[in-house]
Amino acid sequence: MSKRFDKEVFIESVKSNLKTLYRQTLVDATKQQVFQAVSYAVKDTIIDNWMETQKVYEEEDPKMVYYMSMEFLMGRALGNNMINLTEYKEVKEALEELGFDLNVIEDQEPDAALGNGGLGRLAACFLDSLATLGYAAYGCGIRYRYGMFKQKIENGYQIEVPDNWLKDGNPFELRRPEYAKEVKFGGYIRVEYDEATKRNKFIQEGYQSVRAIPFDIPIVGYNNNVVNTLRVWDAEAINDFQLDSFDKGDYQKAVEQENLARNIVEVLYPNDNHYAGKELRLKQQYFFISASVQAAVAKYKKNHSDIRKFYEKATFQLNDTHPTVAVAELMRILLDEEGLEWDEAWEVTTKTCAYTNHTIMAEALEKWPIELFSRLLPRIYQIIEEINRRFVEEIQKKYPGNQEKIRKMAIIYDGQVKMAHLAICAGYSVNGVAALHTEILKNQELKDFYEMMPEKFNNKTNGITQRRFLLHANPLLADWVTEHIGDEWITDLAQISKLKVYVDDEKAQQEFMNIKYQNKLRLAKYIREHNGIDVDPRSIFDVQVKRLHEYKRQLLNILHVMYLYNKIKDHPEMPFYPRTFIFGAKAAAGYRRAKLTIKLINSVADVINNDKSINGKLKVVFIEDYRVSNAEWIFAAADVSEQISTASKEASGTGNMKFMLNGAPTLGTMDGANVEIVQEVGEENAFIFGLSAQEVINYENNGGYNPMDYFNNDQDIRRVLMQLINGEYAPDDPERFRDIYDSLLNTNSSDRADTYFILADFKSYAEAQERVEKAYRDETGWARMAMMNTACSGKFTSDRTIQQYVDEIWHLDKVTVEA
Ligand SMILES: *Cc1c(COP(=O)(O)O)cnc(C)c1O
Repeated sequence: MSKRFDKEVFIESVKSNLKTLYRQTLVDATKQQVFQAVSYAVKDTIIDNWMETQKVYEEEDPKMVYYMSMEFLMGRALGNNMINLTEYKEVKEALEELGFDLNVIEDQEPDAALGNGGLGRLAACFLDSLATLGYAAYGCGIRYRYGMFKQKIENGYQIEVPDNWLKDGNPFELRRPEYAKEVKFGGYIRVEYDEATKRNKFIQEGYQSVRAIPFDIPIVGYNNNVVNTLRVWDAEAINDFQLDSFDKGDYQKAVEQENLARNIVEVLYPNDNHYAGKELRLKQQYFFISASVQAAVAKYKKNHSDIRKFYEKATFQLNDTHPTVAVAELMRILLDEEGLEWDEAWEVTTKTCAYTNHTIMAEALEKWPIELFSRLLPRIYQIIEEINRRFVEEIQKKYPGNQEKIRKMAIIYDGQVKMAHLAICAGYSVNGVAALHTEILKNQELKDFYEMMPEKFNNKTNGITQRRFLLHANPLLADWVTEHIGDEWITDLAQISKLKVYVDDEKAQQEFMNIKYQNKLRLAKYIREHNGIDVDPRSIFDVQVKRLHEYKRQLLNILHVMYLYNKIKDHPEMPFYPRTFIFGAKAAAGYRRAKLTIKLINSVADVINNDKSINGKLKVVFIEDYRVSNAEWIFAAADVSEQISTASKEASGTGNMKFMLNGAPTLGTMDGANVEIVQEVGEENAFIFGLSAQEVINYENNGGYNPMDYFNNDQDIRRVLMQLINGEYAPDDPERFRDIYDSLLNTNSSDRADTYFILADFKSYAEAQERVEKAYRDETGWARMAMMNTACSGKFTSDRTIQQYVDEIWHLDKVTVEA
């Protein structure tokens, strides 16, 4: 185990860091400076373990996974690193002695928000689990200068503010210029016959290039001395702006290379589950993939001579199709630089790459126009053409004369390069992220591929790390769990089922619900400070936090709030348990309907929160700038977990798991991992409603459904919908929410109406909400249900997910690192 924490040494280190970094003493230092000084002190410990881990990797030469992802939604590092070093409480006490509150110091750290939502956070949880389980792993990504935008709410509207997360410096990162790589774009390919090898050589000329510089960020395993690496790439111009390039007439090129480098890593695209087809995005993809693949090959070649066995020591997991150019980049290196024959290179590549599918939604599928793709990546395009030619041949062999199969499966078709088809064709594994999602892939979306290569398909239900989302996020509950069942749950979440013996224990119930109450107080204080709204901590905290997307149906939630408000106004005497509806969500900057939904939520909140006549029975809160750091507090304080996506649309969800772990029952549809949550906890400990995935798919295959039937036949629904266009929540502009009304009932556009089945599910949702209220009134019943959720959450640790990836896909060797 790691060296025992020495308080005196630690304090000296903090003081010395303040001095050398800022010429400050503890008394005059700002909180930000103290944060930096503490982080550097913590980093000292980490560096020793980091070096030791890399030494073990050198000696034992284990197989490594390269987790390739455009996004890593890491959140804050300091607290998590102290937790995993098992020094959190010690540091907290040491800082208290110096007169500092660790919470306040932690709060100085900007979130590393290099991701949008679930997909990016999954990558972050996976890195935590890989290090904790002792597997050699690299995260490979981009060091965006600006991460996910900060969200301000002004007058009820979302305003995007740039996230300048590096402005005070990132204490945990390490610049590694000695591992820089060159990445080339554009130009053309000259073919030259090489007498010596009797092969054509492919030479890229007239290109622009950038230098990729890696920054390494330590990933600390829990209490095991392992420190892995998240390697994110920065871009620099290859030649410093030289005056002589002006003389040579290269001035234009020098400027362009400078701009290319500046633009490429400038900002994270803020789209979740949506493909926008921007050229710069493809540049970002190739940039970090080329650098990462070059680095992986170089690392292998340091200690191995036979590149044909590369796959024995390295595997690439592609997080969605975003990194799929890795397939062609590896082929390029093997063919053009290592001199392998096509078949040899293909064997290596197809034994190295594996693909994770994250969505079945058409608007998220990456399809690049040939023109753009071949212009930007001429050699990569040639290679994909050849992969496609051979794949189409294979399809023809298997299905002679069947043009339909080629149309549906070819990698290049209709003027487009289809990245998912490339990933499936070249991957040795194709996985979905929850059981239901994988079944839909096999039986509907990817049916043709599944029939042709069933052995590739498998499921890996997502998970989350309990170290961040319970141990760090909810210290009161974490301590309580440890008091009752010991601390093994921290690295073996299955142990948490031992709590089941306490679910009927009155004292345990009271303690559990009291902790929930303390966490609700903590969140209420945050809401008062950040929103200026007073919420009643004894009300039901009903929470929906996730990206704003039509398929996630925040609209269903807020329409139901409008319906409840109508009901309370009509029947003031009706018994009603006080409710606080809490929302948190960023909308993609260009997603108009999503942004209008945020305005609707805030407009409804304004009216309801200011209506004295309802005696505070209902409150609606929109928490600004939902992100990992405030998410941790929100999950800990939730009574009800809203997971209400249109069935079949949410591939897995991971927010659902964080709520469950923290004792909040799911109010949700049978979608994504909700299905497995219900399997684990029992239907009686969740509130399930709505159409099934199969019912939704059946409607979709038969031209949709008619929401007018609901509008005409249900006066509650009709009333709520009319309130969208009669100025009830927009007296200054009654037309404001017309687009939302139209989206549900639409008659005057070519879109289908209510694509997300909101009206179809409305009544069933309202009924489920009534069941929630009834259940909450039963105090012991609710305590039991909440505890059952925590106790049954063992399956949803990312440790389990990662172990399954290791056992069934990657086949890595476990390592141990002595202190
Ligand atoms: C877990 C998490 C998500 C994913 O939430 P879903 O409900 O699964 O969409 C998104 N953002 C943050 C900050 C998260 O922590």
